[in-house]
Amino acid sequence: MLYGELVKVYEALESTSGRLEMTDILAKFFQMADCESLRKIVYLTQGQLYPDFYPQKLGLADKLLLKTIASTSGTNEKNVHELWLKEGDPGTVSERIFEEKRQTTLFSETLTLNRVYEALQRITEAEGSGSQHQKMRLLSDVLHDATPREAKYIARIVTGKMRLGVADMTVIDALSQAFATKEDRDVVERAFNVSSDLGKVGERLCRNGIEGIKEMKVEIGNPIRAMLAERLPSPFEILERMGGRAAFEYKYDGVRVQAHIEGKEITLFSRRLEDLTSQFPDVVKALRSAFRSKSGILEGECVPVDINTGEMLPFQEVSHRRGRKHDLTSAIEEYPVRIFLFDCLHLDGEDLTNKPLLERRRALESCVQTTDEVRTSEMRIVDKIEDADAFFQEALRDGCEGLMAKSVADDSVYRAGSRGFLWIKYKKEYKSEMTDTVDLVVVGAFAGRGRRKGVYGALLMATYNGEEDTFETVCKLGSGFDDQTLASLPSKLEVSRLSEKHPKVHSKLEADFWFEPSMVIEVLGAEITISPIHTCAYSRIRKDAGLAIRFPRFTGRFRDDKGPREATTTAELETMYKNQLKKVDG
Ligand code: AMP
Repeated sequence: MLYGELVKVYEALESTSGRLEMTDILAKFFQMADCESLRKIVYLTQGQLYPDFYPQKLGLADKLLLKTIASTSGTNEKNVHELWLKEGDPGTVSERIFEEKRQTTLFSETLTLNRVYEALQRITEAEGSGSQHQKMRLLSDVLHDATPREAKYIARIVTGKMRLGVADMTVIDALSQAFATKEDRDVVERAFNVSSDLGKVGERLCRNGIEGIKEMKVEIGNPIRAMLAERLPSPFEILERMGGRAAFEYKYDGVRVQAHIEGKEITLFSRRLEDLTSQFPDVVKALRSAFRSKSGILEGECVPVDINTGEMLPFQEVSHRRGRKHDLTSAIEEYPVRIFLFDCLHLDGEDLTNKPLLERRRALESCVQTTDEVRTSEMRIVDKIEDADAFFQEALRDGCEGLMAKSVADDSVYRAGSRGFLWIKYKKEYKSEMTDTVDLVVVGAFAGRGRRKGVYGALLMATYNGEEDTFETVCKLGSGFDDQTLASLPSKLEVSRLSEKHPKVHSKLEADFWFEPSMVIEVLGAEITISPIHTCAYSRIRKDAGLAIRFPRFTGRFRDDKGPREATTTAELETMYKNQLKKVDG
C-alpha cells in the first residue's frame, strides 16, 4: 500500500469533526486495506507504532526534526526555525518547506506504507552514541522521497504530535462497520478490552471475521483494560443495588497494578497500561515467591508502608519512586510497598474474566501463598447495613480510604475497560483533619531501620489519663523530625531511660527503649481512629480497642513548658474523637 493513500484519509479526517463521518471514512479505508497493513494503519492513525502499552514511543525532539528538514531541503536552518515559531506545528513547517523546494528534488521514489513504518521503527529504536545522527539520517531518507503532503504527516507522527482526534471508540466503530454488523460491536469492544491492542483486533477481524475475535482470550503480556467502579453514597443504596448481598473489600489507597506472571517472568502494568516493572522490583521479587502456579494475571493495589511504624501511608508516598531510576534502591528502602491482591483474571492457561467474582477469588487464594509483602484484600460478605458500617470503620482505622463493594451474583464477571455497578466504591468524602494539635508524652522508642539506622525510628506517644494517673499510648510518631532533631533525641532522652516499661505506662506494644514519662511534644495528626493496638480510652468506645492518631507528625515544638501530667488527656482525646464523628456523619 502506498503511504499517499493513508495521507488522503488523514486529510479527509482532518476536514471533519463529526464522529459518524470519521467512522465512515475509516471503515471504507479499512475495507480496502490488506490485513497486515491494516494493523499498521490502526496504530499510525492514532499517532503510534504499537499498542499503548509498548514502551517504545514516538517523540523525536522538534529541534532535530527542524534540522533534518533544513538539511534535506537545502534550506537555511534559521528560516526553518522562524517558520516554526510562526506556525507552531511541525507538520505545516515541513509541508511548506518541501513545497518550496519541490522543483529541486531530483530523485523521488514513491513512498510505501511499509517503508514509512519501518523508518519510524528504526528512528524510535536508535539509541546510544551517534543515535541523533542516525535518527536524522533515517528521517532525511524518507523525507527526501515524500511529497509535501506526506512530509506534513511524517513530521507530525515522528515528533509524537499526530493529533487527528481519532479515539479508540471511533476505531472500534469503524472496524465493526467494516468487518461485522452493528450487533457485533460489543464483541469487538470486548476483544479490545481484553487485549488493549486495537491493531491486533483489526488484523484478526480482517483475516477471520467476527468469529476470529469472539475467541480472543486474555493473554499474558497483553494488559487487560481495568474494570472500574461506580459510586454510591451509602451501604443501604449499595446493598439495594446489589440484591441485598455483596462482597465488601477494603479500598486501599495506592497504585493499581496488574501482574502478568509466566514462570519467573513478571511484568507489572499500571491502570493506564504503562509498564511499571522497573519501578517495583521489590514487588516483582515478592510476587515471585508468593505465586504458586505456573502462569497467571493478578490484580492488586500497591500501598506504601512506614518501615518504622508499619502503618499504611498516603498514596503520595509511592510517587516518590517515580522518576527515581538512579536512586531506586534507597526509595525502596524508604518507601517499601505491600501489594494487596484482589483479583485473578487468568490462571495456568485459563481465562477467568468471564467467571463470577467468588470463583476468581477462590482461584486467587489457591495460587498465592500470602507473605508479609503479598496479601489478599481484606474481604467480607455482607448482607446487613450495620455490618457494612462496622467494616467501613475498620477500613478507615487501618488506613484505607473506604470500601469497594463487589457483586457476587452469577453474572459478576470481570468487565474489562468498563465502569459499572458490579463494583461500587464507597468512600466518605469528608475532611477528617484534626484541626487542633495535641501535646503527647514520650513513653518509649523503637530502633530505626533503613535511613534511620542508629537513631530512633519512631517514638511511642501517650496521652495522660487523669482519672487513673496513667499514660496511655496513642500512636507511633516517626514523621516531622529533621535529621538534626532525630540525631539529638537519644541524648535528650538518656536522662529518663528505663530498663523496662514505667509502671504508670499502659502499652500493648513492646518498645525497644522505655522512658520515664517526662518529655512532652506537640503533634498534629490526620484523624483519630479506633485501634486495637493502642490503650488510650481502652474499651470505652469500642470493646477491646482504644483510640489512635493516624499520620501523626511532630510540629517541631518541644513543650518544655509542660510536665507530663499537663499533656493532652485521654478524656480530651475522647471528646475530640466524638466531635470528629459528628462531623463525619453530618
Ligand atoms: P477510584 O480510583 O476512586 O475510582 O477507585 C478505584 C480504584 O480503587 C481501583 O482502580 C483500584 O486502584 C483501587 N482499589 C483499592 N482497593 C481495591 C479493591 N479491593 N478492589 C478493587 N479496586 C481497589
